[in-house]
Amino acid sequence: MITKEISSTKKDSRLKPKFVKEQQWSGYKNPPWFKKDKKKVTVLFNFVERCKSFFLQAFFHRHGYLYRDLGDHVSEDVRWGKEYGNRMECNPMYFTSGCILKNLFKIEKETGLSKEEISKRYIFLGGGGQCGPCRYGMYPQEYLKVLNDAGFKDFRILIFSSDIVQDPMPKRSAFSFNVIFKINILLAAILADFIHVAECALRPYAKDKEQVMRVLSEAEEILLEAFKSRIYLLKLPGALKRVSKMFASVPRADLQLPKIYVTGEFFANLAHNEGNYNLRRFIMDEGCEVYPGLFTQRILYDNWRRACEARRGIKYASSRKERRFHRSSLRKQNVSTTIVTWFYRSYVKALNPSAFGGKFDVLDLDHLAELGRPHYHPEIFGGEGNLEVAEAIYYADTVDGFISSKPFGCMPSSGVSDGVQTRILSLYPQLNFLSIETSGDNEVSILSRVSMLLFKAKQKVKRDG
Ligand code: SF4
Repeated sequence: MITKEISSTKKDSRLKPKFVKEQQWSGYKNPPWFKKDKKKVTVLFNFVERCKSFFLQAFFHRHGYLYRDLGDHVSEDVRWGKEYGNRMECNPMYFTSGCILKNLFKIEKETGLSKEEISKRYIFLGGGGQCGPCRYGMYPQEYLKVLNDAGFKDFRILIFSSDIVQDPMPKRSAFSFNVIFKINILLAAILADFIHVAECALRPYAKDKEQVMRVLSEAEEILLEAFKSRIYLLKLPGALKRVSKMFASVPRADLQLPKIYVTGEFFANLAHNEGNYNLRRFIMDEGCEVYPGLFTQRILYDNWRRACEARRGIKYASSRKERRFHRSSLRKQNVSTTIVTWFYRSYVKALNPSAFGGKFDVLDLDHLAELGRPHYHPEIFGGEGNLEVAEAIYYADTVDGFISSKPFGCMPSSGVSDGVQTRILSLYPQLNFLSIETSGDNEVSILSRVSMLLFKAKQKVKRDG
């Protein structure tokens, strides 16, 4: 009997893999950050593109945090992400996780601190919560995986709309995703949208492009100064009126340029940097006008999606408790949508984008859902959901070119850009459509395909007079 037991144990240990990464399966540690350590820790942050984190620094400044803005994503981030990340991820995952890692190695070099010290003295704050069936919901664990694998053991991250942090956070936490922070990140996104709206309106028509860039960066500083003030809610409208006059004074040539609409997965569409080959800037510099990619629209879509989920939850709830939970979630989404819409509309009023030709409209999501419904069910979430299909129909007769941008390895976008859009094109053959795949490299071949679409758009404008 004893002999039998020993031999079976031997056999089991032979079967056991030699190297098991327990935490990769059971989850990594994300230790809390307490108030007593507030001044010992620097918050590293960025979010999709430079301008948003540029404005978000106002919050950290006002609330006495040590902070460091990680800025824009660059192609090099993908290499870092791929080196330490899991195989076959989508490229926004590599861009974002690689960016944190690249910066931590930079800090290690600059400061001479050990990896252990860096894990204690720095913390990362960013996006990447649960957004449906795609990999977006896996971002927090992937961040922790790459950081731990690269030697930054127990590095801490604060990710909004994610279950990686407690909600509400413990009272002794040095940071909380409270209402004040949520309003600040919303305002940072709206201000960044406005700078982007101005760039899209001015750059393709400006007589002096360098002047546009100078005016934009001057405007950023004016808005940041107002946002850093303790009475920012009162100061921002005045600052917006001031920058509006600056934008309106930029001399513009009287040209009739093709209008191009860009859509696609959130990161590929809204990273106005190497994350999408600076796509909108390329289009503008090639002599076309491009519709701005508004982050506010994406925030409203996320609320709209959660509200749909809550309504479905109420309908199919199996208990009163479950129904109460979904009702409360629906109320939260409605309140959030009202707040977002109120701030956006009031600040648009102060900016008056029509004075400089800015396109600022956010689309009606219920209307888009109905437009796209026959081809893509609006309650299939993940990526941009039904938006891309609905937008193609919405703009079919009004734009000269329509680009769908999807990240390499993106699950939801593959079904939409490569699949459903084929049907939309057969129904709306007038749409000058191009689907591109962003991967962080291969820029020349992707942009040459975009050039072909722009050429066709220019021909169309000439033809139609
Ligand atoms: S929508 Fe696509 S690219 Fe975006 S997180 Fe999901 S899988 Fe990745």
